[in-house]
Amino acid sequence: MKTSLAIPVQKTSKSRLPEIDFSNLVFGKTISDHMFVADYKNGEWTDLRIEPYGVLDLHPANAALHYGQSIFEGMKAYKNEKGEILVFRGDANAQRMNESAARMCMPEIPEEIFMEGLLQLLDLDRNWVPSGKGSSLYIRPFMFATDNYIGVKPSETYKFIIFTCPVGAYYSKPVNVKVETNFTRATEGGTGAAKTAGNYAASLYPALQAQKAGYDQLLWTDGKSHSKIEESGTMNVMFDINGTLITAPTHTGTILKGITRDSVIRLAKDWGMPLEERFLTVAELQEALEKGTLREAFGTGTAATIAHIAKINVNGMDYILPENPSDAFSTKVLNELDGIKYGEIADTRGWIV
Ligand code: PMP
Repeated sequence: MKTSLAIPVQKTSKSRLPEIDFSNLVFGKTISDHMFVADYKNGEWTDLRIEPYGVLDLHPANAALHYGQSIFEGMKAYKNEKGEILVFRGDANAQRMNESAARMCMPEIPEEIFMEGLLQLLDLDRNWVPSGKGSSLYIRPFMFATDNYIGVKPSETYKFIIFTCPVGAYYSKPVNVKVETNFTRATEGGTGAAKTAGNYAASLYPALQAQKAGYDQLLWTDGKSHSKIEESGTMNVMFDINGTLITAPTHTGTILKGITRDSVIRLAKDWGMPLEERFLTVAELQEALEKGTLREAFGTGTAATIAHIAKINVNGMDYILPENPSDAFSTKVLNELDGIKYGEIADTRGWIV
């Protein structure tokens, strides 16, 4: 590992590692010993450091708490059979964080600080990366405004932090989803493509209604006509209709540019799978479900990699998808991506650090 940035490290006096039951991890609840922190002031990132994970001092007038200048990323590290730690497409997360930053009037974090901070943190907390297929270390980089000022304007100071959580397999069972045609996640010109706190806050209420009705997630539709499928709660979605993979395009700025989505598209192209990056309409989806031409539907995201969809509710009608055929594209793509992430399949695309 190159260590071009000298990052001071303050180690915890007592590791929490012996207390952790790695066989019983709940997503996002167990947090590793240390965090990487950098502060932005006077137009530059300063005070890079690694310190014990712990509470932050926040002023009640903290601008992020009031007006939501807060962005984040989600990515994972995996342990291979030799005990080495592999990070999947971290550079893509750094880039996306900067796209979110630009939209939210926040400063860019140089990729070098993002990656070096991350790699040095992982080196220190390497024993927190669980071994075993399905398990991984979830990485949460985030940035928020730190001005103590309640006038509505972009903050002049920010904090960037990375902490990590060991996790077991996520969404192991197929999910049930409901096509949402009332509430809106994102509209053209809005912030849908940014990974910013408010997008998630706004989605909680509609998602809760769906959960009360027995669904795991929503399938969001476009905000204007609610006739086109966009994405799911924390996943992009793909449909195999008669052997053609269809997934929403990202040019409207209403969809998060998922890194798993991009990786699946890349594999589909490399394998010659017919692929259309276009909006699937709700009517087309319903027709395919009725005619039986929808071979499979799945979500793509860092947490689950691939989440098979078992049931879709469209216009109040529940459709059960066929059991996943053994030759399903999603199964092949899941095995390939997991193989690359855990170092079992050679990484020929420069995805692993
Ligand atoms: N859409 C949304 C809204 C998300 O929060 C996520 C998770 N980051 C995704 C899609 C999938 O993105 P990725 O594959 O980069 O995890």
